[in-house]
Amino acid sequence: MPLPYRLHAPGAFPDWVGEGRFVPCHRMSDLADAARHHPTLTFAWQGNRILHATEASFPLEDVPADLPVQRTLPVGLLDGRPCVAVDIAAEAPAPAGHAWTGLRALFNTLDAGWIALAGRSFQLLEWERTHQFCGRCATPMVMRAHERGRECPACQFVAYPRISPVVMGLVVRGRELLLARSPHFAPGMYSAVAGFVEVGESLEQSLAREILEETGIHAGHFQYFDSQPWPFPHSLMVAFTAEYASGTPVPQPGEIEDVQWFAHDRLPVLPPPISIAGRLIRAVASHLASLDP
Ligand SMILES: [Zn+2]
Repeated sequence: MPLPYRLHAPGAFPDWVGEGRFVPCHRMSDLADAARHHPTLTFAWQGNRILHATEASFPLEDVPADLPVQRTLPVGLLDGRPCVAVDIAAEAPAPAGHAWTGLRALFNTLDAGWIALAGRSFQLLEWERTHQFCGRCATPMVMRAHERGRECPACQFVAYPRISPVVMGLVVRGRELLLARSPHFAPGMYSAVAGFVEVGESLEQSLAREILEETGIHAGHFQYFDSQPWPFPHSLMVAFTAEYASGTPVPQPGEIEDVQWFAHDRLPVLPPPISIAGRLIRAVASHLASLDP
């Protein structure tokens, strides 16, 4: 029986963009007026670790004194308050009452809206860090005035923030789900198949290829589920359900440790619900449960 279009699943992150609460900005001058009336909400990064106060609320209001700021870039306005990302020198210790922590480790601590905004700030910062010089002629790049892009003043090459699409597919056969285990997963955890879209592929072509490569299964009838930015470091996850066509599960050597069919009511350890994989699997399992007599 085909899965319905489209399965209901609440998003992991509140929709601050759709609600009009968050407006992206690409020039510091766009934040200047707001900065006169509000403290600046500051996402301070050292490599891929973010600074947070161990007692006070998140995010920080302005940069703690004495931290060596290497660059500051505008992120946008949240409820009219300016938001910036700042890059802190690698050797700087966290100020008293603060800690440097990877964003994933804060998933259970911070509000999901702040996680999403912190992720956005990291992707922008990481893009700026890695696009200091022109990829064509090696001249130092400058920020464009009218859009978020870095331009080479010598050859006019323009680089935009990098987003890498990843397709994810959950294959369904009757009341069973095809789940795979990567060697780097937590013990006992299984998830849906996922992989980067390659140049020249549609999302659907990429999905069919990834499912076949990783599991030996032919699948089709892909239906869109949801998408979610995943800032580790710049992915956009696009999730689908898929229907089984043919084949027997065979794990891809080196990539997949085990792949199995699981009954919808006897699932293994799953990814957390903040990940799109966790939401996709739970939404399908809950739909299949609703069909049970
Ligand atoms: Zn150039």
